[in-house]
Amino acid sequence: MQLPSPIHQVTYNNHTFSIKRDDLIDPFVSGNKWRKLKYILLDAAAKNKKHLVTFGGAYSNHLLATAAAAAKHQLKATAFVRGEEVNNEMLSLCKIFGMRLHFVSRESYRDKLQLFENRYGNDENTYFINEGGAAPEAIIGCTEIIEELNEPFDHIFCAAGTGTTAAGLLKGINQLELDTQLHVIPVLKNGSFIKEEIAHFEQNLSRLNLHTNYHFGGYAKTNPELISFIKDFSAKTGILIDPVYTGKMCYAINDLIEKNHIKKDARILAIHTGGLFGILGKIAEFEKTP
Ligand SMILES: *Cc1c(COP(=O)(O)O)cnc(C)c1O
Repeated sequence: MQLPSPIHQVTYNNHTFSIKRDDLIDPFVSGNKWRKLKYILLDAAAKNKKHLVTFGGAYSNHLLATAAAAAKHQLKATAFVRGEEVNNEMLSLCKIFGMRLHFVSRESYRDKLQLFENRYGNDENTYFINEGGAAPEAIIGCTEIIEELNEPFDHIFCAAGTGTTAAGLLKGINQLELDTQLHVIPVLKNGSFIKEEIAHFEQNLSRLNLHTNYHFGGYAKTNPELISFIKDFSAKTGILIDPVYTGKMCYAINDLIEKNHIKKDARILAIHTGGLFGILGKIAEFEKTP
């Protein structure tokens, strides 16, 4: 466990910026999934729960993080996986860590509390963890990313799926009254909903900047330009980034500097939220893109 996570300087395309390497916290309980699970697991332990039940898609970083964390703490883990039964590298890793998988239709997946109640409603040992680890405890864990900083930054960047991580970062920035702008890159199409998600947890949005044009077609969608960028960035910096989240964030940082929306000499921090096994779901794209 590497905490506080280190900050590394990178120079790419003649711009220098810093990356907070939350991907190095743990290989499997990686990045923001570790931050989110920290207080969720403490809550589960305080309630004497022995079995974690959670939800995700077939390439969910959260499922792998939960499987590995449960194993480390001698807890059982079960996941409801969205869609028809499949196997892939990510799910194989989950199973190696002892997680049990239940595949459920997209329709029944929508009502997660119902799925939980039906199967585990009478089981006192069982603890519900929402998809992606979204919970008030997760926000607290993510504010600690900001508390670990001991130098000032003008701009902090993160990728967003549910916006939980972004909400925690914004809360941390506001609580410490930092003169820092938070830049959030939604990885889904029509990402302006992230603003409302963040507002559930943090009312002061004055330091929030949403950049909704870097989704590359939607969640887990890529194009050759993004894949080429990821290859070039990783090859020139030695820092691996993934095609679903951090690749889109780094693309946005580079693009915003190139277009002078962010000053070249500004002090920029990117949060590497981990999730590198997401590359496994896109191997074919990497292989065919120069
Ligand atoms: C899950 C994940 C995110 C999205 O986090 P949210 O809190 O849901 O916005 C970002 N980056 C990586 C690598 C992830 O695995």
